[in-house]
Amino acid sequence: MTVRAPAGYAAIITAAGRGARAGSDRPKQWRNLGSQPVIAHTLAAFAGFDRIVLVVHPDDMADAVTRFAGPVTIVTGGETRSASVMAGLLALEGQASHVLVHDGARPLTPASVIQGVVDALQGGAVAAAPALPVSDTLWRGDGGNVTAITTRDGLYRAQTPQGFRLPEILAAHRMHPGGATDDVALALKIGLEVTITPGSEDNLKITWPDDFARAERLMGAERLMGNAMDIRMGNGFDVHAFEPGDHVWLCGIRVPHDSGLKGHSDADVGMHALTDAIYGALAQGDIGRHFPPSDPQWKGTESHVFLRHAIDLARERGFRLGNADVTLICETPKIGPHADAMQTRLAEIMQVETGRISVKATTSERLGFTGRGEGIAAIATATLIGG
Ligand code: MG
Repeated sequence: MTVRAPAGYAAIITAAGRGARAGSDRPKQWRNLGSQPVIAHTLAAFAGFDRIVLVVHPDDMADAVTRFAGPVTIVTGGETRSASVMAGLLALEGQASHVLVHDGARPLTPASVIQGVVDALQGGAVAAAPALPVSDTLWRGDGGNVTAITTRDGLYRAQTPQGFRLPEILAAHRMHPGGATDDVALALKIGLEVTITPGSEDNLKITWPDDFARAERLMGAERLMGNAMDIRMGNGFDVHAFEPGDHVWLCGIRVPHDSGLKGHSDADVGMHALTDAIYGALAQGDIGRHFPPSDPQWKGTESHVFLRHAIDLARERGFRLGNADVTLICETPKIGPHADAMQTRLAEIMQVETGRISVKATTSERLGFTGRGEGIAAIATATLIGG
Protein backbone atom coordinates (compact mmCIF):
# COMPACT_ATOMS: atom_id res chain seq x y z
CA MET A 1 0.00 0.00 0.00
CA THR A 2 1.29 3.46 -0.87
CA VAL A 3 0.03 6.66 0.74
CA ARG A 4 -1.61 8.93 -1.82
CA ALA A 5 -0.72 12.35 -0.47
CA PRO A 6 -3.04 15.34 -0.94
CA ALA A 7 -2.12 17.92 -3.59
CA GLY A 8 0.58 20.30 -2.40
CA TYR A 9 2.31 17.72 -0.20
CA ALA A 10 6.00 17.10 -0.88
CA ALA A 11 8.60 14.81 0.65
CA ILE A 12 12.27 15.46 1.30
CA ILE A 13 14.38 12.33 1.65
CA THR A 14 17.76 13.01 3.22
CA ALA A 15 20.53 10.71 2.04
CA ALA A 16 23.61 12.91 2.11
CA GLY A 17 25.22 11.39 5.21
CA ARG A 18 28.16 9.04 4.81
CA GLY A 19 26.80 6.47 7.28
CA ALA A 20 30.17 5.23 8.49
CA ARG A 21 28.62 3.36 11.43
CA ALA A 22 26.95 0.67 9.25
CA GLY A 23 30.35 -0.83 8.50
CA SER A 24 30.98 -0.69 4.77
CA ASP A 25 32.84 1.41 2.17
CA ARG A 26 29.58 2.37 0.56
CA PRO A 27 27.27 4.70 2.52
CA LYS A 28 24.48 2.64 4.07
CA GLN A 29 21.70 4.21 2.02
CA TRP A 30 23.36 2.97 -1.19
CA ARG A 31 23.95 -0.56 -0.01
CA ASN A 32 21.54 -3.21 -1.22
CA LEU A 33 18.66 -4.34 0.90
CA GLY A 34 17.22 -7.33 -0.98
CA SER A 35 17.78 -6.56 -4.64
CA GLN A 36 17.71 -2.74 -4.42
CA PRO A 37 19.60 0.00 -2.58
CA VAL A 38 18.12 1.10 0.75
CA ILE A 39 17.26 4.50 -0.73
CA ALA A 40 15.16 2.91 -3.51
CA HIS A 41 12.94 1.27 -0.88
CA THR A 42 12.67 4.57 0.99
CA LEU A 43 11.65 6.46 -2.16
CA ALA A 44 9.08 3.79 -3.04
CA ALA A 45 7.26 4.44 0.25
CA PHE A 46 6.69 8.06 -0.89
CA ALA A 47 5.71 7.26 -4.49
CA GLY A 48 2.23 8.69 -3.87
CA PHE A 49 3.58 12.23 -3.30
CA ASP A 50 3.44 14.80 -6.13
CA ARG A 51 6.91 16.10 -5.37
CA ILE A 52 9.85 14.20 -3.93
CA VAL A 53 13.22 15.81 -3.33
CA LEU A 54 16.14 13.50 -2.72
CA VAL A 55 19.13 15.12 -1.02
CA VAL A 56 22.40 13.32 -1.77
CA HIS A 57 26.12 13.71 -1.19
CA PRO A 58 27.93 15.22 -4.22
CA ASP A 59 29.80 11.90 -4.65
CA ASP A 60 26.49 10.07 -5.13
CA MET A 61 24.93 12.61 -7.52
CA ALA A 62 25.68 10.72 -10.74
CA ASP A 63 24.38 7.43 -9.37
CA ALA A 64 21.26 9.11 -8.01
CA VAL A 65 20.51 10.83 -11.31
CA THR A 66 20.93 7.58 -13.25
CA ARG A 67 18.60 5.69 -10.95
CA PHE A 68 15.96 8.15 -9.88
CA ALA A 69 15.89 11.33 -12.00
CA GLY A 70 12.52 12.06 -13.54
CA PRO A 71 9.90 11.59 -10.86
CA VAL A 72 12.40 12.64 -8.20
CA THR A 73 14.17 16.02 -7.92
CA ILE A 74 17.76 15.45 -6.84
CA VAL A 75 19.78 18.10 -5.02
CA THR A 76 23.12 17.98 -3.23
CA GLY A 77 23.18 18.32 0.52
CA GLY A 78 25.41 20.22 2.88
CA GLU A 79 27.85 19.32 5.64
CA THR A 80 25.15 18.78 8.24
CA ARG A 81 21.73 17.16 8.23
CA SER A 82 20.24 20.57 8.83
CA ALA A 83 22.00 22.05 5.80
CA SER A 84 20.79 19.12 3.69
CA VAL A 85 17.18 19.62 4.73
CA MET A 86 17.57 23.34 3.95
CA ALA A 87 18.73 22.44 0.42
CA GLY A 88 15.61 20.33 -0.01
CA LEU A 89 13.34 23.05 1.38
CA LEU A 90 14.80 25.63 -1.00
CA ALA A 91 14.04 23.31 -3.93
CA LEU A 92 10.40 23.30 -2.83
CA GLU A 93 9.95 26.93 -1.77
CA GLY A 94 6.74 28.30 -3.22
CA GLN A 95 5.85 24.96 -4.78
CA ALA A 96 4.36 22.99 -1.90
CA SER A 97 2.12 23.73 1.06
CA HIS A 98 3.38 20.91 3.29
CA VAL A 99 6.53 18.86 3.49
CA LEU A 100 7.44 15.56 5.13
CA VAL A 101 11.15 15.25 5.93
CA HIS A 102 12.33 11.65 6.09
CA ASP A 103 15.59 9.80 6.79
CA GLY A 104 16.79 8.00 3.68
CA ALA A 105 18.03 5.24 5.97
CA ARG A 106 14.48 4.31 7.04
CA PRO A 107 13.49 2.09 4.12
CA LEU A 108 10.57 0.16 5.59
CA THR A 109 8.33 2.92 6.93
CA PRO A 110 4.80 1.51 7.02
CA ALA A 111 2.21 3.44 5.02
CA SER A 112 0.20 3.86 8.23
CA VAL A 113 3.03 5.91 9.78
CA ILE A 114 3.20 8.27 6.78
CA GLN A 115 -0.58 8.47 6.67
CA GLY A 116 -0.69 9.40 10.36
CA VAL A 117 1.53 12.43 9.73
CA VAL A 118 -0.44 13.48 6.64
CA ASP A 119 -3.73 13.14 8.53
CA ALA A 120 -2.48 15.30 11.41
CA LEU A 121 -1.37 18.04 9.00
CA GLN A 122 -4.64 17.77 7.08
CA GLY A 123 -6.39 18.17 10.41
CA GLY A 124 -4.70 21.55 10.86
CA ALA A 125 -1.48 20.72 12.74
CA VAL A 126 1.46 22.96 11.84
CA ALA A 127 3.90 20.17 12.63
CA ALA A 128 3.46 16.44 13.24
CA ALA A 129 5.88 13.56 13.64
CA PRO A 130 5.74 9.87 14.57
CA ALA A 131 7.14 8.45 17.78
CA LEU A 132 6.86 5.40 20.00
CA PRO A 133 6.42 5.66 23.76
CA VAL A 134 9.42 4.26 25.62
CA SER A 135 8.42 0.96 27.20
CA ASP A 136 11.74 -0.28 28.59
CA THR A 137 13.04 0.91 31.93
CA LEU A 138 15.79 3.45 31.38
CA TRP A 139 19.04 3.32 33.29
CA ARG A 140 21.79 5.76 33.72
CA GLY A 141 25.12 3.95 33.75
CA ASP A 142 28.76 4.65 34.40
CA GLY A 143 31.72 2.31 33.92
CA GLY A 144 29.45 -0.69 33.29
CA ASN A 145 27.36 -0.16 36.42
CA VAL A 146 23.86 1.16 36.85
CA THR A 147 24.01 4.46 38.64
CA ALA A 148 20.39 5.52 38.48
CA ILE A 149 16.95 4.64 37.17
CA THR A 150 15.43 7.26 34.95
CA THR A 151 11.69 7.55 34.72
CA ARG A 152 10.32 6.76 31.29
CA ASP A 153 7.06 8.63 31.86
CA GLY A 154 6.37 10.93 28.96
CA LEU A 155 9.41 9.79 27.00
CA TYR A 156 9.16 8.94 23.30
CA ARG A 157 11.52 7.58 20.66
CA ALA A 158 11.37 9.97 17.71
CA GLN A 159 11.03 8.71 14.16
CA THR A 160 10.50 10.23 10.74
CA PRO A 161 8.86 11.40 8.49
CA GLN A 162 8.45 14.68 10.32
CA GLY A 163 5.77 16.79 8.67
CA PHE A 164 5.37 20.56 8.58
CA ARG A 165 3.66 23.43 6.86
CA LEU A 166 6.40 24.44 4.46
CA PRO A 167 6.61 28.20 5.16
CA GLU A 168 6.93 27.62 8.92
CA ILE A 169 9.70 25.01 8.76
CA LEU A 170 11.56 27.06 6.17
CA ALA A 171 11.37 30.05 8.49
CA ALA A 172 12.69 27.90 11.36
CA HIS A 173 15.67 26.79 9.28
CA ARG A 174 16.39 30.37 8.23
CA MET A 175 16.28 31.59 11.84
CA HIS A 176 18.53 28.80 13.14
CA PRO A 177 20.86 27.74 10.33
CA GLY A 178 22.61 24.48 11.17
CA GLY A 179 21.11 24.65 14.58
CA ALA A 180 19.48 21.35 15.51
CA THR A 181 19.66 17.55 15.26
CA ASP A 182 16.28 17.27 13.64
CA ASP A 183 13.46 19.37 12.30
CA VAL A 184 11.15 18.90 15.26
CA ALA A 185 13.88 20.43 17.44
CA LEU A 186 13.96 23.45 15.11
CA ALA A 187 10.18 23.72 15.11
CA LEU A 188 10.20 23.81 18.91
CA LYS A 189 12.87 26.53 18.86
CA ILE A 190 10.50 28.86 17.03
CA GLY A 191 7.58 27.85 19.23
CA LEU A 192 5.62 25.59 16.88
CA GLU A 193 3.36 22.97 18.42
CA VAL A 194 4.32 19.47 17.26
CA THR A 195 1.67 16.73 17.24
CA ILE A 196 2.89 13.20 18.07
CA THR A 197 1.54 10.60 15.64
CA PRO A 198 1.85 6.79 15.89
CA GLY A 199 5.29 5.37 15.08
CA SER A 200 6.11 1.75 14.34
CA GLU A 201 8.77 -0.75 15.42
CA ASP A 202 9.13 -1.64 11.71
CA ASN A 203 10.18 1.94 10.93
CA LEU A 204 13.78 1.14 11.76
CA LYS A 205 16.67 3.42 10.91
CA ILE A 206 19.58 1.51 9.46
CA THR A 207 22.50 2.55 11.63
CA TRP A 208 24.50 -0.54 12.54
CA PRO A 209 25.59 -3.50 10.37
CA ASP A 210 23.06 -5.77 12.17
CA ASP A 211 20.24 -3.50 11.04
CA PHE A 212 20.57 -4.81 7.47
CA ALA A 213 19.86 -8.33 8.67
CA ARG A 214 16.88 -7.13 10.69
CA ALA A 215 15.49 -5.14 7.75
CA GLU A 216 15.86 -8.18 5.51
CA ARG A 217 13.99 -10.33 8.03
CA LEU A 218 11.18 -7.78 8.11
CA MET A 219 11.04 -7.69 4.31
CA GLY A 220 10.99 -11.49 4.17
CA ALA A 221 8.08 -11.64 6.60
CA GLU A 222 6.23 -9.05 4.54
CA ARG A 223 6.80 -10.99 1.34
CA LEU A 224 5.47 -14.18 2.93
CA MET A 225 2.39 -12.37 4.15
CA GLY A 226 1.95 -10.74 0.75
CA ASN A 227 2.09 -14.08 -1.02
CA ALA A 228 -0.35 -15.68 1.36
CA MET A 229 -2.72 -12.86 0.48
CA ASP A 230 -2.18 -13.19 -3.27
CA ILE A 231 -5.52 -14.64 -4.20
CA ARG A 232 -6.45 -14.53 -7.88
CA MET A 233 -9.80 -15.13 -9.54
CA GLY A 234 -10.46 -15.69 -13.19
CA ASN A 235 -13.53 -16.38 -15.26
CA GLY A 236 -14.02 -18.16 -18.58
CA PHE A 237 -16.86 -18.39 -21.07
CA ASP A 238 -17.13 -20.57 -24.15
CA VAL A 239 -19.68 -21.67 -26.74
CA HIS A 240 -19.63 -24.47 -29.29
CA ALA A 241 -22.32 -25.18 -31.88
CA PHE A 242 -23.85 -28.60 -32.50
CA GLU A 243 -23.05 -30.47 -35.68
CA PRO A 244 -23.98 -33.96 -36.83
CA GLY A 245 -22.49 -36.65 -34.61
CA ASP A 246 -23.22 -39.20 -31.91
CA HIS A 247 -21.39 -37.83 -28.84
CA VAL A 248 -20.01 -34.71 -27.21
CA TRP A 249 -16.96 -34.24 -24.95
CA LEU A 250 -17.82 -32.31 -21.82
CA CYS A 251 -15.34 -31.74 -18.97
CA GLY A 252 -13.25 -34.66 -20.21
CA ILE A 253 -16.16 -37.17 -20.38
CA ARG A 254 -17.54 -38.68 -23.59
CA VAL A 255 -21.31 -38.18 -23.41
CA PRO A 256 -23.46 -40.00 -25.98
CA HIS A 257 -25.76 -37.56 -27.79
CA ASP A 258 -27.70 -37.18 -31.03
CA SER A 259 -25.28 -34.41 -32.17
CA GLY A 260 -21.60 -33.63 -31.86
CA LEU A 261 -19.96 -30.27 -31.07
CA LYS A 262 -18.15 -28.36 -33.76
CA GLY A 263 -14.66 -27.12 -33.03
CA HIS A 264 -11.04 -27.02 -33.95
CA SER A 265 -10.11 -29.30 -31.04
CA ASP A 266 -12.43 -31.81 -29.37
CA ALA A 267 -14.79 -28.86 -28.66
CA ASP A 268 -14.94 -29.56 -24.93
CA VAL A 269 -16.74 -26.36 -24.07
CA GLY A 270 -16.63 -26.90 -20.29
CA MET A 271 -12.92 -27.57 -20.19
CA HIS A 272 -12.25 -24.57 -22.43
CA ALA A 273 -14.15 -22.25 -20.10
CA LEU A 274 -12.22 -23.61 -17.10
CA THR A 275 -8.87 -23.32 -18.88
CA ASP A 276 -9.63 -19.69 -19.76
CA ALA A 277 -10.59 -19.01 -16.14
CA ILE A 278 -7.12 -20.15 -15.01
CA TYR A 279 -5.34 -18.15 -17.70
CA GLY A 280 -7.53 -15.22 -16.68
CA ALA A 281 -6.51 -15.49 -13.02
CA LEU A 282 -2.87 -15.41 -14.16
CA ALA A 283 -3.54 -12.49 -16.56
CA GLN A 284 -2.25 -14.77 -19.31
CA GLY A 285 -4.87 -14.30 -21.99
CA ASP A 286 -6.83 -17.32 -23.17
CA ILE A 287 -6.45 -20.67 -24.93
CA GLY A 288 -6.17 -18.94 -28.30
CA ARG A 289 -3.03 -17.12 -27.17
CA HIS A 290 -1.25 -20.30 -26.08
CA PHE A 291 -2.67 -22.67 -28.73
CA PRO A 292 -3.51 -20.53 -31.79
CA PRO A 293 -6.35 -22.10 -33.85
CA SER A 294 -4.41 -20.98 -36.94
CA ASP A 295 -1.67 -23.46 -36.06
CA PRO A 296 -2.53 -26.87 -37.58
CA GLN A 297 -0.60 -28.77 -34.92
CA TRP A 298 -3.43 -28.19 -32.40
CA LYS A 299 -6.16 -29.53 -34.72
CA GLY A 300 -8.11 -32.28 -32.98
CA THR A 301 -6.15 -31.76 -29.73
CA GLU A 302 -7.78 -33.26 -26.69
CA SER A 303 -8.65 -30.38 -24.39
CA HIS A 304 -6.94 -31.82 -21.31
CA VAL A 305 -3.69 -30.64 -22.98
CA PHE A 306 -4.90 -27.04 -22.65
CA LEU A 307 -6.12 -27.43 -19.09
CA ARG A 308 -2.91 -29.13 -18.08
CA HIS A 309 -0.89 -26.31 -19.65
CA ALA A 310 -2.85 -23.66 -17.76
CA ILE A 311 -2.54 -25.37 -14.37
CA ASP A 312 1.16 -26.08 -14.92
CA LEU A 313 1.67 -22.39 -15.75
CA ALA A 314 -0.10 -21.48 -12.51
CA ARG A 315 2.16 -23.82 -10.50
CA GLU A 316 5.28 -22.48 -12.19
CA ARG A 317 4.25 -19.03 -11.03
CA GLY A 318 3.78 -20.16 -7.46
CA PHE A 319 0.00 -20.61 -7.42
CA ARG A 320 -2.19 -23.55 -6.47
CA LEU A 321 -5.82 -24.04 -7.35
CA GLY A 322 -8.15 -22.97 -4.55
CA ASN A 323 -11.30 -24.14 -6.31
CA ALA A 324 -12.97 -24.25 -9.70
CA ASP A 325 -16.64 -24.07 -10.57
CA VAL A 326 -17.96 -24.95 -14.05
CA THR A 327 -21.53 -24.46 -15.23
CA LEU A 328 -22.68 -26.06 -18.48
CA ILE A 329 -25.64 -24.37 -20.14
CA CYS A 330 -27.74 -26.57 -22.45
CA GLU A 331 -31.15 -28.24 -22.85
CA THR A 332 -29.60 -31.57 -23.84
CA PRO A 333 -27.76 -33.79 -23.17
CA LYS A 334 -28.64 -34.26 -19.51
CA ILE A 335 -25.51 -33.47 -17.47
CA GLY A 336 -26.64 -34.72 -14.05
CA PRO A 337 -25.82 -38.40 -14.64
CA HIS A 338 -22.27 -37.49 -15.74
CA ALA A 339 -21.46 -34.66 -13.30
CA ASP A 340 -19.57 -36.84 -10.80
CA ALA A 341 -17.43 -38.39 -13.53
CA MET A 342 -16.66 -34.89 -14.89
CA GLN A 343 -15.67 -33.65 -11.44
CA THR A 344 -13.36 -36.64 -10.98
CA ARG A 345 -11.80 -36.26 -14.42
CA LEU A 346 -11.11 -32.51 -14.02
CA ALA A 347 -9.58 -33.12 -10.58
CA GLU A 348 -7.40 -35.85 -12.07
CA ILE A 349 -6.16 -33.62 -14.92
CA MET A 350 -5.38 -30.77 -12.53
CA GLN A 351 -4.09 -33.09 -9.78
CA VAL A 352 -6.24 -31.63 -7.02
CA GLU A 353 -8.79 -33.11 -4.62
CA THR A 354 -12.25 -33.59 -6.13
CA GLY A 355 -13.69 -31.42 -3.35
CA ARG A 356 -12.11 -28.36 -4.98
CA ILE A 357 -13.95 -28.92 -8.28
CA SER A 358 -17.60 -28.30 -9.00
CA VAL A 359 -19.45 -29.21 -12.21
CA LYS A 360 -23.10 -28.29 -12.52
CA ALA A 361 -25.54 -27.53 -15.29
CA THR A 362 -28.52 -25.42 -16.10
CA THR A 363 -30.86 -24.95 -19.02
CA SER A 364 -31.71 -21.51 -20.34
CA GLU A 365 -35.45 -22.21 -20.14
CA ARG A 366 -35.60 -22.82 -23.89
CA LEU A 367 -34.53 -19.22 -24.53
CA GLY A 368 -31.71 -18.16 -26.81
CA PHE A 369 -29.33 -20.34 -28.80
CA THR A 370 -28.84 -22.86 -26.01
CA GLY A 371 -32.61 -22.94 -25.47
CA ARG A 372 -33.16 -23.68 -29.15
CA GLY A 373 -30.64 -26.51 -28.96
CA GLU A 374 -28.15 -24.90 -31.33
CA GLY A 375 -25.15 -25.45 -29.08
CA ILE A 376 -23.75 -25.56 -25.57
CA ALA A 377 -22.31 -22.72 -23.54
CA ALA A 378 -20.17 -22.93 -20.41
CA ILE A 379 -18.97 -20.52 -17.78
CA ALA A 380 -16.25 -21.22 -15.24
CA THR A 381 -14.58 -19.52 -12.28
CA ALA A 382 -11.22 -20.48 -10.84
CA THR A 383 -9.41 -19.23 -7.75
CA LEU A 384 -5.63 -19.42 -7.49
CA ILE A 385 -3.75 -18.98 -4.23
CA GLY A 386 -0.17 -17.76 -4.25
CA GLY A 387 2.49 -18.91 -1.78
MG1 MG B 1 -13.74 -23.43 -27.20
